[in-house]
Amino acid sequence: MIDELVRRAMDLDLDDPLQHFLDDFVPAKQGRLAAYLDGNSLGRPTKAAQSALAELVTDAWGSELIRGWTDGDDPWMQWPEQTGDLIADACLGAADGQTVVADSTTVMLYKLARAAVDAAPDGRDEIVLDTDNFPTDRYVLEGISRERGFNLRWIDADPDTGVTPDQIAAVVGERTALVVLSHVAYRSAWLADMPAITKIVHDAGALVLWDLCHSVGVVPMQLDEWGVDLAVGCTYKYLNGGPGAPAFGYVARRHQGNLRQPIHGWMGRAEPFEMAPGYVPAGGIRSLVSGTPPIVGMVPVRAGVQMVQRAKVEAIREKSVALTEFAIEVHDAWLAPLGVRLASPRDAKRRGGHITLCRNDFREVYRQLWDDGVIPDFRAPDGIRIGLAPLTTRFTDVTTSMELIRGSLG
Ligand SMILES: *Cc1c(COP(=O)(O)O)cnc(C)c1O
Repeated sequence: MIDELVRRAMDLDLDDPLQHFLDDFVPAKQGRLAAYLDGNSLGRPTKAAQSALAELVTDAWGSELIRGWTDGDDPWMQWPEQTGDLIADACLGAADGQTVVADSTTVMLYKLARAAVDAAPDGRDEIVLDTDNFPTDRYVLEGISRERGFNLRWIDADPDTGVTPDQIAAVVGERTALVVLSHVAYRSAWLADMPAITKIVHDAGALVLWDLCHSVGVVPMQLDEWGVDLAVGCTYKYLNGGPGAPAFGYVARRHQGNLRQPIHGWMGRAEPFEMAPGYVPAGGIRSLVSGTPPIVGMVPVRAGVQMVQRAKVEAIREKSVALTEFAIEVHDAWLAPLGVRLASPRDAKRRGGHITLCRNDFREVYRQLWDDGVIPDFRAPDGIRIGLAPLTTRFTDVTTSMELIRGSLG
């Protein structure tokens, strides 16, 4: 007899209006994958990326060569802003001219945080951050605080949830220069209240920089309407840009004349091909670019973002909520009785696109799952993180993987 939850998963897959998008992704080789639950770490490749990469090699790169930068109807020189606008339109709720693609998230975060700190008025010498933010974010801000003599104000975030507006209100004040937070916490999936927190930071006279790595492409947002100052995000998670795909940075138009990022490269200079003495920033968001744009890396990003644009991020969010709700229900029925603990919010309004489950022996369980072709992520010390990228994850992937976890717990 088929389990009631397995039957439900099959019905949910049949009724899923986004199910057909899976056909637009490159399938794994036979026998290499039973269920993929890590689309929030590395999204799957689109078929469009596969063909566009081959096309780049033969056409624009192979035949046009150096002319690709400047000639034709889609010159590479414009790709950082164009791809940024595409992400802004599909995912960020942001108007054109405020987003570029360049660097890694780490480097982009450094550039924006340094720009904000350097522009802070005298007396504002504190950066607010939280203990549970992604490691690279913490390390970058620790480095900037040493470089610039700024103090770090640490918020102790609850690892099962995340930073609340009240916690922010309690620490910001006349010494705050910058607040840096993740929109969705990488471990718990806590979805921070971006509009409320942004307002609290502004009322204290400071700027806010949001890290969107775990929300872009899966949680809708309105950066312009909510008055966000700065944001960064990666393109290889829910945007399916591929390993090491370049990051994006957002600078609200009102700040573009005042903030100056610290890595003055020729590609962000006005008239780069004049090779003139002295750095003069290009106008607008372009000055966020430093060196030669990563064109090869942007090819799959464009394909991935276009896919999100076609599916619509609101519809993606709807399926994402249904997937995480269902995963929690299966956890409650099958795993909680065996001592597994949910380390993610139960309130869907405060939860992003993944969940984390904990038990003291999960490091070994996770290794066994990988051997069986079920691929979640492990987060030390005892968390299995289940990423449910809506365009590539089926409800039956949830039951398949949880059945295997249940079996391994005995
Ligand atoms: C994935 C992720 C990063 C990754 O940074 P890279 O420079 O691309 O390695 C940074 N911050 C957060 C919150 C992330 O989830």
